[in-house]
Amino acid sequence: MTYSLTITHLYPDHLNLYGDTGNLIVLRRRCQWLGIDCTVKALTMGDRPTPGETDLYFMGGGQDNDQVAVVDDFHGRKYDTIKADTEAGAVFLGVCGGYQLMGNTFLMGNGEETRGLGIINVDTRAPGSEVKQRCIGNLIAEILPALYQQMLSLYTQPKAIPHTLVGFENHSGQTYLGAGVEPLAKTLVGFGNNASADYEGARYKNVFGSYMHGSLLPKNPHFADLLLGLALRYRSGDSTLTLPSLADREELAAHQYVVEQYHA
Ligand code: GLN
Repeated sequence: MTYSLTITHLYPDHLNLYGDTGNLIVLRRRCQWLGIDCTVKALTMGDRPTPGETDLYFMGGGQDNDQVAVVDDFHGRKYDTIKADTEAGAVFLGVCGGYQLMGNTFLMGNGEETRGLGIINVDTRAPGSEVKQRCIGNLIAEILPALYQQMLSLYTQPKAIPHTLVGFENHSGQTYLGAGVEPLAKTLVGFGNNASADYEGARYKNVFGSYMHGSLLPKNPHFADLLLGLALRYRSGDSTLTLPSLADREELAAHQYVVEQYHA
């Protein structure tokens, strides 16, 4: 049986820092390798999504100004459909500025608060006087047990996957998780959600946020497979659907290199 997925890239012309579009290249290529028909659509200012069409939404990072620029368009043209899709189980991944934007509110460095997209119950505030530093550098975090088990459950044959996620962060915004939202991983190196938290990322249903830029899916093939597997389960209605495992030699070597270099 041939599976099909529709991936929607939100605001690719406004939100794309540090190679975040590389995540789309990974999803498209893994679909090709796995024999999944994959259509990638761009949805930007002025466009309206088609209800029920998208299996996986992706939104990259951006500067504060880029984030503010898309908020009214999102609420005016996209919110109803995307909220309904994600509440029904469609997958959504937001990275850094995209992750901040998915939340309820975003208090910018200039003191102005803007509303977020309202897709996940998190809030982000730029640092006050107590946090002067940007969160910048390599980020390594240990995947929480329930999420790790779910990752394993997505493979048809047992696959040895890393216990870690690795990436690069660069943000001033500090994100705080609200009720009903779980972090993805415990921070081992770097910061993650905020400078005083021990955790990185967020999850609500199949909505995921992460501070890991460009290298998120290229260097974490197990996370890419999680997104694809959940999107296929959502589309097919089969909650036991599994994926064949790819060899991932280069991907896992790149992952391991980061762990060995920066986490003694
Ligand atoms: N504007 C956000 C911040 O600096 C996010 C920047 C980014 O996506 N790297 O907090």
